[in-house]
Amino acid sequence: CAVFGVFAPGEDVARMTCFGLQALQHRGQESAGIAVGDGETMMAAKDLGLVTQVFDEATLAALEGFVAVGHVRYSTSGGAASWEAAQPHISAIDDVLIALAHNGTLVNTAALRARLVRDGVQLRAGTDSEAAAKLIGQVTQKTHHLRNGIRHAMEAIEGAYAMVLASPDALYAFRDPNGIRPLCIGELPQGRGWVVSSETCGLDIVGATYVRDVEPGEIVRFNAEGVHSEQGVPAGRRASCIFEYVYFARPDSVIDHQSVYQARRSLGRILAQEAPAEADLVLGVPDSGVPSALGFAAESGISYADGIVKNRYVGRTFIEPTQAMRQLGIRLKLNPLPSVIRGKRLVVIDDSIVRGNTSKKLVQMLRDAGAAEVHLRIVSPEVKWPCFYGIDTDTRDQLIAANMSLDEMNAWIGSDSLAFISLEGLRAAVPDARHQGFCDACFTGDYPVAIPEALAAKSFS
Ligand code: 5GP
Ligand code: SF4
Ligand code: MG
Repeated sequence: CAVFGVFAPGEDVARMTCFGLQALQHRGQESAGIAVGDGETMMAAKDLGLVTQVFDEATLAALEGFVAVGHVRYSTSGGAASWEAAQPHISAIDDVLIALAHNGTLVNTAALRARLVRDGVQLRAGTDSEAAAKLIGQVTQKTHHLRNGIRHAMEAIEGAYAMVLASPDALYAFRDPNGIRPLCIGELPQGRGWVVSSETCGLDIVGATYVRDVEPGEIVRFNAEGVHSEQGVPAGRRASCIFEYVYFARPDSVIDHQSVYQARRSLGRILAQEAPAEADLVLGVPDSGVPSALGFAAESGISYADGIVKNRYVGRTFIEPTQAMRQLGIRLKLNPLPSVIRGKRLVVIDDSIVRGNTSKKLVQMLRDAGAAEVHLRIVSPEVKWPCFYGIDTDTRDQLIAANMSLDEMNAWIGSDSLAFISLEGLRAAVPDARHQGFCDACFTGDYPVAIPEALAAKSFS
């Protein structure tokens, strides 16, 4: 998912949010929503579909105000897309309205919901964002201070969350104590206001300058008085998702002051040193494999070629929630160029292998198109563990690397050779990040936030 927020009196905040969400569309394609506050009340529009399908001129024009939050969603809990699950989640606290948008996944939702129900709170949507909004409401009702409510919720919720919240007259941004999912702050020119976005590409599109990232455990409030920062909960072990650099984020984004594009180039360069191949051409699997393929080509001296064409109107196949849709999706999306690859020995660079469907289909397509050899090089280590923090990498039994050796995978996929970057290689590709640590649990099983037993039992089978 992605979140976006604006506080900018005098600006068309709904339109800015719409642009921001379009820039973040790669992070979720199931639903889109915007909520706007005008000082008195809040209005929202959300629906299933892409940002451009949900918002037209009339819808945007109706969203008048000076503070806005927005969201694009892909479901991480395996649930099908539904209107109820679309965000921002709107919640009434006494006479005060809030709109909450969440990127990430909470690991203790079941316990939170049980607790809320025990306290007589009504729950409808069944999402973790709803639970978070209600927790915020519980204390805000009593103290009439949203920051107290947010702090109360942050003390109770566990997992990964980068959240933006709008009240009728203020914007809040807060991030889990490990800083797992990204969230950055930008400033509009001439003091026109503030923007919060999952990625810096969302700041660029509205002309905001990247100021900094929201710190782990921090709450930042933007209102007529200016910017206020406080520590909501103490920061824990720093664990920014390293997979953002490998796959999830847009290459033109900067996370924690490290360029995603440069990280991907470095991944390719490092993998060329770790696992060279004798070949005529280097191909990248669009889109996320391409910068790494350029890095691999530069390091190895083998020419880069555009040998796989991507249909730009097909979304991210991984994000399609069912296996049937994913299988069809791969064929719709990628097509090899026989005139480039016929008779050639290829090194093919992709970002990751999760279930293995993409690689198996791709290798077959390349062979059908006349490739003499296909050497697969993957710029992330073997994905052996499920992600519980907002990226849908499935249960262990679905993860090919958790169930097969390297040779078995190579044989099943049908490649001539197969290699993954080492964990050290991956870490070395993101050297300038300011923070001290990454989450790399999907590769190592070292989870920065403990996974409750019931959840683990379901996913580790
Ligand atoms: P597979 O077919 O192996 O399950 O999927 C691998 C492809 O899906 C990769 O080439 C990558 O582009 C994309 N992908 C890989 N891992 C992830 C992930 O954890 N989350 C998402 N959203 N997409 C992924
Ligand atoms: Fe990112 Fe992997 Fe950690 Fe999930 S488990 S947050 S994908 S590094
Ligand atoms: Mg891919």
